Amino acid sequence: MLRHGIALTALLVALLASVASGQSAPVVVIDPGHDLRANPATEPISPGSSTRKIKDGGGTHGVVSGLTEAELNLRVALRLRTLLERAGVRVVMTRTETVATSIGNVARARIANRAGAALFLRIHADGSTDPSARGTHTLYPALRHGWTDDVYASSKRAARTVQSELVRALGFPDRGLQERSDFTGFNWADVPVVLVEMGFMTNATEDRLLATSGYQRRAAVGLCRGALRYLGRMTTACR
Ligand SMILES: [Zn+2]
Repeated sequence: MLRHGIALTALLVALLASVASGQSAPVVVIDPGHDLRANPATEPISPGSSTRKIKDGGGTHGVVSGLTEAELNLRVALRLRTLLERAGVRVVMTRTETVATSIGNVARARIANRAGAALFLRIHADGSTDPSARGTHTLYPALRHGWTDDVYASSKRAARTVQSELVRALGFPDRGLQERSDFTGFNWADVPVVLVEMGFMTNATEDRLLATSGYQRRAAVGLCRGALRYLGRMTTACR
């Protein structure tokens, strides 16, 4: 009994020391898509590329709720931050308010690179000219030799766990995974990266649900579980 007590105390001391130093805690960079204002300036689609894309088109908005995508993304992101921190993960946010002109995708990727993110998790919601389009999907970088080799497999694995947990949490149709080579924020990332499209704000059903705090919480729980599963940690903390 005493021996167990001593072992337990030693374990607790080690745990507290690691939490205090923050050494063993992985970093997740949460990127709530867009901001108050779009950014029409352009930036290279990948390092050294002469192809340039607009920094931020501004995102979509809820057809019924009137909520902007930027605000929905942020609400889910802030809830996710709380859940991950409670689970012992260090969180870095690309923004914590919806008050400015979007910094663009190169800047977002640089935040993730500088933080040495174990996962760069980008949160978005979709828009379509087809009001019946609905469902959840997750995007990750396409394989480009000499370019995304280092993050392709890990990003794909993260996309799988995040997509499956997010679909389970929201209950929206599963639109699966998609590889993209044309995302500036992917091409500049040197760390595993995924971008979730939680649902369609141009679909009345999904917009109505995503605008509620209950569904924003569901989304955060799903993203937390997906991220922790990818990191090989217990997902029970995501409540
Ligand atoms: Zn978006």
